[in-house]
Amino acid sequence: MSECLFCKIAAGQIPAKLVHEDEHTLAFRDINPQAPQHILLIPKKHLENMLGLDDATAAHMLAAMRKIAEAENFGRGFRVVANTGELGGQTVYHLHWHLLSGRHLGWPPG
Ligand code: 5GP
Ligand code: ZN
Repeated sequence: MSECLFCKIAAGQIPAKLVHEDEHTLAFRDINPQAPQHILLIPKKHLENMLGLDDATAAHMLAAMRKIAEAENFGRGFRVVANTGELGGQTVYHLHWHLLSGRHLGWPPG
């Protein structure tokens, strides 16, 4: 069995607060939220990060992102972040998009 944390969440072996699920993607609330709304959107299949993202999976993730943005009332704005690799600050090596909303988000990032 995979030792990957997000594969375990996708398999239901570790609990998470789900906000969206379809055939290809899963979204759940971040355990350490950086904004009032902080959701992690992942592909169910294991991809390390954006460098391994194929077009079909990207399309599934974009479709899920739009559904979540509507369901979570992100109309005032939100941010999508994909920390990638060491310099990108990635800590979990299963591709995920952070969807952040509910407050004014600063720029530039730290
Ligand atoms: P990264 O730093 O790789 O971009 O983001 C990893 C994210 O996963 C972090 O925001 C962290 O809070 C979140 N995270 C780590 N472990 C868990 C967990 O067990 N459950 C949930 N829901 N989020 C987690
Ligand atoms: Zn994984």
